[in-house]
Amino acid sequence: MITIQGKGVSAGVGVGPLYFYRRATAEIKRYTVEDTDAEWHRFKGAQTGAVEQLGDLAEQARRDAGDEAAMLFETHQMMAEDLDYEEAIEDRILNQKMNAEAAVSDTAEQFAEMFASMDDAYMQARAADVKDVSQRILGILCGIVQGGMFKDLRSESARQLIDLDFEGYAIGGLSVGESKDVMMEMLYHTAPILPSEKPRYLMGVGTPLDIIKGIDAGVDMFDCVLPTRNARNGTLYTSLGKLNIKRREFAEDDGPLDPACSCYTCRTFSRAYLRHLYVSQELLSFRLNSIHNLTYFLDTVRGARAAIREGRWAEYKRRYEELYDV
Ligand SMILES: [Zn+2]
Repeated sequence: MITIQGKGVSAGVGVGPLYFYRRATAEIKRYTVEDTDAEWHRFKGAQTGAVEQLGDLAEQARRDAGDEAAMLFETHQMMAEDLDYEEAIEDRILNQKMNAEAAVSDTAEQFAEMFASMDDAYMQARAADVKDVSQRILGILCGIVQGGMFKDLRSESARQLIDLDFEGYAIGGLSVGESKDVMMEMLYHTAPILPSEKPRYLMGVGTPLDIIKGIDAGVDMFDCVLPTRNARNGTLYTSLGKLNIKRREFAEDDGPLDPACSCYTCRTFSRAYLRHLYVSQELLSFRLNSIHNLTYFLDTVRGARAAIREGRWAEYKRRYEELYDV
């Protein structure tokens, strides 16, 4: 995952890739989940202060310059009195969405400039293409649905984001330590209320079974460190289930890691050799294991796509449930 600090937004480009709209959704999160009282008091304090200050200024203006000058301040005072808390928050969110969009287009512009300034005629000629491609890649701006483990807040967060009309929607704040049951309850509640014609993205998830269930709930995209992190720990996912390559039982196993896998690791090395690399702490172990796990996860989602198209989804899902739901 590459992260870019843009103009007032923090943006991520992951398997997608996507441009996240974190800061603004954090506002929604605060508005719906966290201490809204404190936020409201802050707003009210600022509003009361502004109204008082404008009143003082109006009085002063009346003394020094007459009624006409005072009216200008009084108009602003009335506007400050009329400020609505929810509207003020929404304005701020809209502003941040505009900033995020500007950051996307600035970044694309910067890539194009970088290519245009290269001392290479071919690269210079490609600058316009680079801008176009970057804009398209970075251009998927996702609103992130928050709301903790509360269905009503998830619905409210989704509703507000749908009102803002994003190109895609992400489900955030899951797989953060809650039980699998609660996570699935939130997932199956949230994914279906997001527009099905736009990409839905489940952030930071997960195991092969989590991904299968995410797809079942309506999710289109995932990103997670799990395949590579587990690979480095020797935990490998195979068509026969999960295994740990460091186990003694693989010491003299000449068979492939996963007989059903066509990755470089499985085509080239035995389980015994992979175990040897792991226990010897050879760096090649990290690489070969990662190649396999990434292939397995990609095969899982490719297989899911084919199963949905061919009307075999229930059967495909059941196979993963049987393999991992122990
Ligand atoms: Zn493999």
